[in-house]
Amino acid sequence: MSAAPDSPGAQANPFRLLPKVDGLLADPRWESQRERLGDAVLGDMIRSVLESWRERITSEGWDWEQTQAALAGERLALEVRALLDVEARRGVRHAINVSGVVLNTGLGRAPVHHAVAQRMAQVAGGFCVLEVDRETGRRNQRDARLGELLSRLTGAEAGIAVNNNAAAVLLLMHAFAKGREAIVSRGELVEIGGSFRIPEVLESAGARLVAVGATNRTRLADYRQAIVQTTGLLLKVHTSNYRVIGFTEEVDPKELASLGREHSIPSAWDLGSGRIEARGANSLDRIGGETEVREAVASGVDVVTFSGDKLLGAPQAGLLVGTREAIARLRNCPMYRALRLDKVGLAGLEATLELLLEGRGDELPARRMLLMGGAETKRLCDEAKVELSDLPGITVRVVASHSEPGSGSAPTVTLPGYCLQVDIPGLSPQRAATALRLATPPVFARVQEDSLWLDLRTLLPGELADLRRALAQVLDAHLGT
Ligand SMILES: *Cc1c(COP(=O)(O)O)cnc(C)c1O
Repeated sequence: MSAAPDSPGAQANPFRLLPKVDGLLADPRWESQRERLGDAVLGDMIRSVLESWRERITSEGWDWEQTQAALAGERLALEVRALLDVEARRGVRHAINVSGVVLNTGLGRAPVHHAVAQRMAQVAGGFCVLEVDRETGRRNQRDARLGELLSRLTGAEAGIAVNNNAAAVLLLMHAFAKGREAIVSRGELVEIGGSFRIPEVLESAGARLVAVGATNRTRLADYRQAIVQTTGLLLKVHTSNYRVIGFTEEVDPKELASLGREHSIPSAWDLGSGRIEARGANSLDRIGGETEVREAVASGVDVVTFSGDKLLGAPQAGLLVGTREAIARLRNCPMYRALRLDKVGLAGLEATLELLLEGRGDELPARRMLLMGGAETKRLCDEAKVELSDLPGITVRVVASHSEPGSGSAPTVTLPGYCLQVDIPGLSPQRAATALRLATPPVFARVQEDSLWLDLRTLLPGELADLRRALAQVLDAHLGT
């Protein structure tokens, strides 16, 4: 049979050099992780490391000595440790955005105002007045207040909220076009990130899509000709993440709305971002091509849908505003119960809309970032440069650059300003960016023109110390190797 592990030889079985799972599980070096993760999870990690070693020994054809050499220096333990580190980094957590993309879907889109975050935390961590009348103690509607706030901000008669704008569009289809036709322009059959495509949403809601016009041109007559007895909805979709330019024509929503009224067919407009302007706040009109919600409502369409966490700067939500009758129909649709907003989102949304109504819109972080002028980004960079330049092994320069609104909001708009260009000798910008993402807290920078750029437009006040801490970790690891 095979030789004992302590008597190596050419014939000795190198696999016997690999420790047993139980022995590794009991290693005191990861006692605390074992307690947290449990034996099953840690055991699986250990087994995967051992399995990769078995594969290496086989594929390399290592004998006893070669395997022993490969395992030297606690290699196997280091690999278990690396897996534990990966595990510890997983999950949703705070990150620093210096990518310059304000509404960055990967980074959670709009950060909410700190007062909004506080209200959300309070509601999440305790009981709250959600669906109960404080005077009578009777059950009421959770979004009555929200409807009022939305009316005041957009001029619509009524409004409700669901989980996100994709859900808003889905609800719209269910309530108005299930088992019926929805007429949409061929130029507006949008795909929003991955699996959300207007034709597929329509189909999943049991509606039949009637695409009219051509990709670049659609006229009112195209909609008119497509109307049949069973038409349920005339839908207009904002082409958020692309533009059709050149020889183009799209239908004026006012005309679409009056065509609908003429035939008693509801009309709707999915705005995507949904720009809301409010008293006392700077206008977002320079985020080009984004229709103001109030204007969309005034066009006369029955329902307007938009996102909470795009230009509005609120928590994730889908807002539907429109006529009292249309909103009542949406509320009575069984899908509404499945898609409606939770208490935390609702509290955050109300708080955000209240800030807008109080004339404090410019305090909303996403708006502030979008509207930040070049001079202010320059000032932030100059201050941060002083703060970061004394880190060892780093060169920081302030350079002119552009940020982006992001999330398919205004794809053709860039926001001019300044950035920090960081050079770490001996570390490529790609590797530096990766190391920053893996730091604590994780930092998302951008690599551009073969250097590392930190765009401070998207850095929140008070985060510079965290950014410095993450950079210091990267430099420590780099200079230490
Ligand atoms: C972003 C967007 C959506 C989806 O909104 P979410 O809030 O991301 O679900 C739908 N329609 C349009 C036109 C959009 O721009």
